[in-house]
Amino acid sequence: MLKELLEGEISQKEVLNYYNANVTYLPLMEGVNGLVFNYKDINNIIINKNLSYYKRRKTLLHELAHIELNQLCQRDKDLFAFHIQEYEDEADRYIKYLLN
Ligand SMILES: [Zn+2]
Repeated sequence: MLKELLEGEISQKEVLNYYNANVTYLPLMEGVNGLVFNYKDINNIIINKNLSYYKRRKTLLHELAHIELNQLCQRDKDLFAFHIQEYEDEADRYIKYLLN
């Protein structure tokens, strides 16, 4: 899904619909680009609204990678994926892989 988005074959809206995802832009503390959590089958993506357009876009891709890699279901009680470094690296590697 992300691959098709990056290649311009489908729109961001279609990807969000497909993953049942909502994006909210909020002022987050410095150093936090965004986070994602699943609640009641909806994937909630929060992006730091203080970021530049480019960084907001990059962060959205990163959070979508967490969803696409199914990283949100692997932890039972912990809803938030953004602080788990192993997953952070995997999400970033995945985007790099798709861009190459
Ligand atoms: Zn992350």
